Amino acid sequence: MRAWVVEDPGPVAGGPLRLTDRPVPQPGPGQLLIRVLRCGVCRTDLHLAEGDLPPRAPRSTPGHEVVGEVVEAGPGTVRFGPGDRVGVAWLAGTDGSCRYCRAGQENLCPRSVYTGWDFHGGYAEYLTAADAYVHALPAGFSDAEAAPLLCAGIIGYRALLRAELPPGGRLGIWGFGGSAHLAAQVAIAQGAAVHVFTRSAEARELARGLGAASVQDSWDPAPEALDSAILFAPVGDLVPAGLRALDRGGTLAIAGIYLTDIPRLNYEEHLFQERTLRSVTANTRGDAEEFLRLAGRLRLRVTVTPYPLDQADVALADLAADRVSGAAVLSPLAG
Ligand SMILES: [Zn+2]
Ligand SMILES: [Zn+2]
Repeated sequence: MRAWVVEDPGPVAGGPLRLTDRPVPQPGPGQLLIRVLRCGVCRTDLHLAEGDLPPRAPRSTPGHEVVGEVVEAGPGTVRFGPGDRVGVAWLAGTDGSCRYCRAGQENLCPRSVYTGWDFHGGYAEYLTAADAYVHALPAGFSDAEAAPLLCAGIIGYRALLRAELPPGGRLGIWGFGGSAHLAAQVAIAQGAAVHVFTRSAEARELARGLGAASVQDSWDPAPEALDSAILFAPVGDLVPAGLRALDRGGTLAIAGIYLTDIPRLNYEEHLFQERTLRSVTANTRGDAEEFLRLAGRLRLRVTVTPYPLDQADVALADLAADRVSGAAVLSPLAG
């Protein structure tokens, strides 16, 4: 089968990914063999390709927004079987026994493992995944539309929870790609006024079309004080801007797995009046299930830019340059 691997982590311009041939994997105990129908391209893949996140396995295949069909079920699998349409997301396994797992915080498990980082992901024609960590998908979404729900959607939803947005509140969103455009729709459906800050003209257009209350450049001041804010752009320089835009008692959640350095903060200007700055780390399976149900109920509109599997490197370069509208999605069928 065809599979991309991170050959030599570095800037996308240098071509860190290589398209290779590898045997179709065999499902082990508790695992499913899944034929990839679509795989979304997430900013985390870019951080893996560029070496911002150190590799956990040599020459691993990225991709953790996989919509696929189960073709074989390994011994001991109980949830899914051949013919089922399933989603494979970022969280690929936890120990299930540490204090975080036992407290319902498996996203913080020190022994958690990830699709496309510890295990080969979906920039390929097949992959294996743990039956216990694979998701059922909501009806009403094509394979391409369902793919971005699996990380962009789930993480965006967790970021929204972590941002503590009150009902009918005022939410600021910095960066407006795959994740933000889904989280914004959930917030708007819950009655929030969503203010979007992005440098991309195309993203500003998308935000307007989805019902954002206001749309402006990344560095513009907020039109009103915010209850909550989410930083989706991996740009630490924006943290002070987000904090400054908060009302008293407001919360800024940083959604990404990677952020450039945060500049020096001023207590009075950025944090005093009980403003809160917090991170978002992966997600629990509970978050994923809750979001996927919600996505079906709200009929979220997923904006997709398609690429054939053979052009995964082009998709990543476009993502790096903010040339992707909504979410980039790879198709092994067209490639
Ligand atoms: Zn654990
Ligand atoms: Zn992701």
